[in-house]
Amino acid sequence: MEIKGVELRFLGHAGFLVRTKGGQVIIIDPYNLEGEVEKADLVLITHSHFDHCSIKDLEKVVREGTRVVVPADAQSKITKLNDVDMQIVEVGDELKFGEVKVEAVPAYNVGKDFHPKSEGWMGYVLKLGEVVIYHAGDTDKIPEMEKLTGYGHHNNFFIALLPVSGTYVMNAEEAAEVASLLSPDLAIPMHYGAGVAGTLEDAQKFVELCKEKGIKAEILEKNS
Ligand SMILES: [Zn+2]
Repeated sequence: MEIKGVELRFLGHAGFLVRTKGGQVIIIDPYNLEGEVEKADLVLITHSHFDHCSIKDLEKVVREGTRVVVPADAQSKITKLNDVDMQIVEVGDELKFGEVKVEAVPAYNVGKDFHPKSEGWMGYVLKLGEVVIYHAGDTDKIPEMEKLTGYGHHNNFFIALLPVSGTYVMNAEEAAEVASLLSPDLAIPMHYGAGVAGTLEDAQKFVELCKEKGIKAEILEKNS
């Protein structure tokens, strides 16, 4: 889909491709890729779990010089990639990449142990001029999300990519609560349908619940 000159493509599970107005390609958490995926200028990895930091999939999308942004514990995996420009980030860091500003924001579980807060894993906020995209990473509803609510009330177009599978992350109901809190212009479900956790039904349920709350939500077909 295209919003204000920015292309957003779902690559399956928690994977997305963003093409900026200026043509820079950003890929987040590529996993289980199918078909042709172009090379990225910037790759953002939310955490080191296999379904978010997959070397087999990263090999398909990096080229010499691709900037690969990761939390510290994913470092050993990334060093297996040849000639990439690895950058370690911590929660709270903000980096600039050409016309794009990227902020690493917290992502962690509440009441389950798969993604402890102490790991310092993350989601990302991408600021692309008029378009702001929040990729939540593997997370539950956490207090730090309050800080993101401002994006829903500015003149920018705010897109929230939220996990809906339950088990390791929020379920559809919880994700819809987050959507309601953030009040994005568009909410898109992720983290389902890749054989890890969650199904298309979870995504459909999320979209329905968002609609009930007056939030526009849409399922992106893989590769569209
Ligand atoms: Zn995970």
